[in-house]
Amino acid sequence: MPVQPTPVAELPVIEVFSSIQGEGPWVGCRQVFVRLAECNLKCRYCDTPTAPPDVCRIETLPGTEEFKTLPNPVPVDVLFLLLRDWAKETPGLHHSISLTGGEPLVHSDALTQVLPALRDVLPVYLETNGTLPEALEPLLPHLDFISMDLKLPSVAGVTPQWEDHRQFLRLGWNLPGYVKVVVSEQTCEEELEEAATLVAEEAENKDLILQPITLDNQPGVSGQRMHQFQEVAARVYPRVRVIPQVHPILGAL
Ligand code: SF4
Repeated sequence: MPVQPTPVAELPVIEVFSSIQGEGPWVGCRQVFVRLAECNLKCRYCDTPTAPPDVCRIETLPGTEEFKTLPNPVPVDVLFLLLRDWAKETPGLHHSISLTGGEPLVHSDALTQVLPALRDVLPVYLETNGTLPEALEPLLPHLDFISMDLKLPSVAGVTPQWEDHRQFLRLGWNLPGYVKVVVSEQTCEEELEEAATLVAEEAENKDLILQPITLDNQPGVSGQRMHQFQEVAARVYPRVRVIPQVHPILGAL
């Protein structure tokens, strides 16, 4: 019997590029971003097309913002070779590979096939909406950082995700990471308090980051209102910090 080739997993990729992490405690670090299509939620402020495009765009050289295209879906071995070459060409530049989206955990099965190899190239930093605990669990041994969102219904316009968020935090990922809440002028303070209570109960070793929504490339919440939000959250969870998105201010990808 002829030997059958091992099937290679594929991922629907929107784009791959090198830029500055614009959110959270690792703001300013240079990362390789792998933006995957598809998501299990539909937030009203989402800026990412979640449907898989026919082709993905790949930066020709890291940081140049010049792109070539590849047909979708992309075999994970092609993705691995690309990122391995980038790491060789730019030693010391990148802090990690950011898996972002969309919601990367929608592709947990394919990611289990490529993450061990990617992790030999650079540390892996997962950006997730924190609602798919079953998908996270098998990936935990292959991750180095987790940036987890907590979705406030009054801001994201989605049904409450509290129970899924709780289960996600209960996995007790003992990795560097944080929990992020996007707030707007319309944020319901009771929801913010509920989010802070959830972090206090399930993840007391993590920073809670309040991120003002970005409007026209600027923080879309006044400084005074952010003070109020921080006070509301700090009453139940003192490890709360305010960090706006930085990459839109810089005009970076
Ligand atoms: S979780 Fe993220 S990718 Fe999914 S809809 Fe919300 S903002 Fe968009």
